[in-house]
Amino acid sequence: MGSENGICGAPSTDNEGRIAQPQALSWEADCLACDPFEGDFGGSGPGDGVLSDKMVWCRKSGECHTCAGEVAVSMRIRRRAEVYDGEFMRFAWCQPCCEAMAASGESPEAYEERIGLGQERRQAELAAGQGLTKASVDGAPPHPSEAP
Ligand SMILES: [Zn+2]
Repeated sequence: MGSENGICGAPSTDNEGRIAQPQALSWEADCLACDPFEGDFGGSGPGDGVLSDKMVWCRKSGECHTCAGEVAVSMRIRRRAEVYDGEFMRFAWCQPCCEAMAASGESPEAYEERIGLGQERRQAELAAGQGLTKASVDGAPPHPSEAP
């Protein structure tokens, strides 16, 4: 005891010399407090519910559920797993969207911008895939629960 291991706040490294990643960022609790599907939850399956909803360091890239951008390795991201209408679903959000969610209590505009960005990207993707012009394609719903 009393050696370098006991110093509070000093950067710690593991056996391979990597700097240990911090456990949490200051805005994470605010991000998790934001329900990305607020007012949108209409599932009625008997086992419906959120199984897990947490902030993690991304280790496998994917697509952001909100902005349709890349969820890149080493980003601090939100992952959520839930059963919706009896179907198991997974979601991920990129760090910029998580930060916008965290700030959405103060200024919802930033998160709404991310949603708009996602709609634009999905429309463009759809148009490119079907050879249609952007104007002729309706935006993809932000959540599968969105009923007509
Ligand atoms: Zn995003």
